[in-house]
Amino acid sequence: MSESSTLKSQTETWIERGQASVMNTYNRFPVALKRGAGCQMWDVDGKRYLDFLSGIAVNSLGHGHEKLVSALNAQMADLMHCSNLYWIPAQIELAELLVKNSPFDKAFFCNSGAEAVESALKLARKYGKTKHNATRTKVIAMTNSFHGRTYGAMTLTGQAKYQADFTPLVPDVIHVPFNDFVALQAAMTPEICAIILEPIQGEGGIQPADPAYLKQVRTLCDAQDIVLIFDEVQTGIGRTGKLFSFQHAGVQPDVIALAKGLGGGFPIGAMLAVDKVAAAFQPGDHASTFGGNPMACTAGKIVLEALLQDGLLSHAAEMGTYLQMRLQELQQQFPAIQNVRGLGLMQGIELNQPVADIVKECLENGLLLVGAGANVIRFVPPLTVGKVEIDEALQILSNLLRRR
Ligand code: PLP
Repeated sequence: MSESSTLKSQTETWIERGQASVMNTYNRFPVALKRGAGCQMWDVDGKRYLDFLSGIAVNSLGHGHEKLVSALNAQMADLMHCSNLYWIPAQIELAELLVKNSPFDKAFFCNSGAEAVESALKLARKYGKTKHNATRTKVIAMTNSFHGRTYGAMTLTGQAKYQADFTPLVPDVIHVPFNDFVALQAAMTPEICAIILEPIQGEGGIQPADPAYLKQVRTLCDAQDIVLIFDEVQTGIGRTGKLFSFQHAGVQPDVIALAKGLGGGFPIGAMLAVDKVAAAFQPGDHASTFGGNPMACTAGKIVLEALLQDGLLSHAAEMGTYLQMRLQELQQQFPAIQNVRGLGLMQGIELNQPVADIVKECLENGLLLVGAGANVIRFVPPLTVGKVEIDEALQILSNLLRRR
């Protein structure tokens, strides 16, 4: 071995190996992470980071959560996978918890956010065709939205940069400006079967829907029996301080897509629907080999129990208010911060400049963050985050902003 290769850090070695073997689809930071505990993570060279990204709104219980780890260990020893040809107790228990604590009646389980969106899209089209007529196939989605990378979800995504190289897309999807009810009304035709939106656009820059707009959309959907789908993949399961973000506006969709935080780090997706719409799906219409897997559903159960029984939901709401207040204080200090917006522990600060370099400097100083669009820094820490950690994170950020 040459002297230079023996001097390489663990990080450099892993990056080299990754570049040689893993497909080049991500703009990765030059860090290889190995271990986590609570809101902290460590890289392969032992450097500590404060995690305000949580796998992009995924590790809702933080890293190494004792109950989650022991429940998954026990489930793994009992049964790791079981086909949906059979009934799966953990899946039924999670479905029961979800429907009991929501306005929805039935759950379909899958493995990711994009898959949950695909399920919702298929369900809405089948409902439109069978309940109304074969020409009811069109779906309205919002500009600046993000729904995932599979073909249906990517087509719904209202950002050309995700689509341009991959056309032709799925037919019969129309985009209208977000938060613009007049534009939505103008796009209405008898062929519309569904409207899909994120109650807070996440990847689009932490842009909340106006509650009055959501009410208008609900009324429009009721009048024409259009399926209203909320994509709560990022906003759902306590992220905004309520179990679902639609509860802030008091507007209930017919169908919701969930994923990310539901598994606390274990891959899971879910599509919930009210009976009227859910009944459109019949055996054979939709499926997923790993969907509703006992491990994933056990993880989901532990996350929901933490939120609903162990006080995590109110903790997340309290910490969200604290984080927002501290960010507003930063805004007073730094004119570069144009805006602070979000709900609960899904917050964004909009700067008057691209944030990529600031996010990179935060990483170098031990704080994991991610942007949301070019000018917004997003804060989506584990829901277990405490005031001390929020203070530490904002100290790192403000030290950097002061030096700029
Ligand atoms: N929908 C929303 C609102 C998202 O934020 C994301 C991911 O960021 C997705 C869907 C896609 O989820 P996944 O990456 O699990 O497919």
